[in-house]
Amino acid sequence: MLHSPARPVEEIDEGVRRLAADMVETMAAAPGVGLAAPQVGSPLRMFVWSWTDDDGVVHSGVAVNPRLWIAPTRVTPAGDDDVEGCLSFPGERFGLVRSSAAILEASDLEGDPVRIEAEGWLARIFQHEYDHLDGVLYLDRLAHPEHKAAMKIRKKNGWGVDGLSWLPGTDHPED
Ligand code: ZN
Repeated sequence: MLHSPARPVEEIDEGVRRLAADMVETMAAAPGVGLAAPQVGSPLRMFVWSWTDDDGVVHSGVAVNPRLWIAPTRVTPAGDDDVEGCLSFPGERFGLVRSSAAILEASDLEGDPVRIEAEGWLARIFQHEYDHLDGVLYLDRLAHPEHKAAMKIRKKNGWGVDGLSWLPGTDHPED
């Protein structure tokens, strides 16, 4: 599921709204700043996010059938500010250079258009979650030697096979 492209949401019905509510709850319990539908076993193009910036402003929402435009990515090694993690590869973090700006266009749960110009972490969150909808994990984008280290961890944990899951608030994947 995590490596398959998701399909568009055709109709925002009760099922889609319930899924979005479940995703918001799961993201909060994890805790995480974003969650895409394929991460909870649903092959739909939808993600949620909730992130509090340094000024205490909460940025949150639901993106249905999102489109994302990104500014050119700088070509420099990942630094301390580029460290990223993923709830589908729990307990690990790796440096990854992302575009510093992105424009998200999507539909909200009422079917109304959403357009957000994001920078910094919010732009990173959008790129990470959008990737999930195309079957791409941030691990797939890591440069050597981070990629090698990630694959070693995956092998050690027996991850990367079908049917694995963990339940935020119940399981402790870092133990
Ligand atoms: Zn992720």
